[in-house]
Amino acid sequence: KFEESKILQQLPKQFFATLVKNVNAKIATGADVINLGQGNPDQPTPDFIVKAMQAETAKPENHKYSLFRGDPALKKAAANFYKREYGVSLDPEKEIAILGGSKIGLVELPFAILNPGDTMLLPDPGYPDYLSGVSLAQVNLALMTLREKNDFLPDYSELSQDVVDKAKLMYLNYPNNPTGAVATPKFFKRTVDFAKQNQIGVVHDFAYGPIGFDGKRPISFLQTPGAKDVGIETYTFSKPFNMAGWRIGFAAGNADMIEAINLIQDHLFVSVFPAIQKAAIAALDSDQHTVRDLVALYEKRRNQFFKAARSIGWEPYHSGGSFYAWMPVPKGYTSESFANLLLDKAAVAVAPGNGFGKGGEGYVRVGLLIDEPRFTEACQRIAKLNLF
Ligand code: PLP
Repeated sequence: KFEESKILQQLPKQFFATLVKNVNAKIATGADVINLGQGNPDQPTPDFIVKAMQAETAKPENHKYSLFRGDPALKKAAANFYKREYGVSLDPEKEIAILGGSKIGLVELPFAILNPGDTMLLPDPGYPDYLSGVSLAQVNLALMTLREKNDFLPDYSELSQDVVDKAKLMYLNYPNNPTGAVATPKFFKRTVDFAKQNQIGVVHDFAYGPIGFDGKRPISFLQTPGAKDVGIETYTFSKPFNMAGWRIGFAAGNADMIEAINLIQDHLFVSVFPAIQKAAIAALDSDQHTVRDLVALYEKRRNQFFKAARSIGWEPYHSGGSFYAWMPVPKGYTSESFANLLLDKAAVAVAPGNGFGKGGEGYVRVGLLIDEPRFTEACQRIAKLNLF
């Protein structure tokens, strides 16, 4: 019998596992659960990407061990993509690393460039999996609270000098999971200045890259002058191309950080199935019309959900991107007790804000991953509870 290692025991509990368990228990009672809790894209991968993958799968050269550090043609396609979409120049070999999904890069990076006892800054609320990197690398955690009054952008002046002095690495994520907030060029400029002044590496998680609403296209961190001196950006195929199950993404930017990611990949991983990398090239090289259609769908759903929520007196935070709505909890409830009440009494599942950290208390996250009329029905069921 083997016991979990001490490091493994320290890993944070996967809060989505609890959410799924609660939802399944409710479904088992025969309830018609409207699931607004999950973050799994509901649309299929565009056909042209699936076809590219099928054609490549048949080719024997794609059945062998591939280059550890990924297909050079994919790195070139990623560099071309950043040039075309964001006007950012990248050296395909030195400034891009291919990842088996962006999560793996985000989790392994602290392990690659920090030493036990170093300090790392994470947003609160934030994507829970960043915490796995903190535990695996045995580093100290300092949180940056995201407040609604600051449009859920961190205020660096709130950090104590001691924390700033010790911090070596910081994570950011816009469009933001869970709040739906988007970054401004001014904020990213402030971030580069702060990082340079204090020698802090920056990782911008651009998982929801193109998903911005109201005609505003989210900006890349790498568009900020000096960004490559201080950090990298991770990009994923999971959301813009509905390829979450395929497990592919990349990191781009600072050459030293990219080299560190590549080194750790050399030890832990052989690159993604070559046929998937070829399909990823097709996705990046495409005219992006499937991405525009998808963004339009999420914007339509956001508008439908906001309308339904407002009609029952439930006022959302204005989500400018991602596929989430960040909703306040009524007086007298915590995010968890409110989420439990909705599941129990209305058979509506939402993600409690505190699952994303203490800074998420007072909110729940709604995923815009189902179609009307289910949003309206969810709000009608919630209206019957007379909470607003
Ligand atoms: N970052 C954020 C903010 C996410 O929400 C997710 C997935 O939900 C990821 C990263 C991980 O994406 P990937 O599928 O590329 O591992």
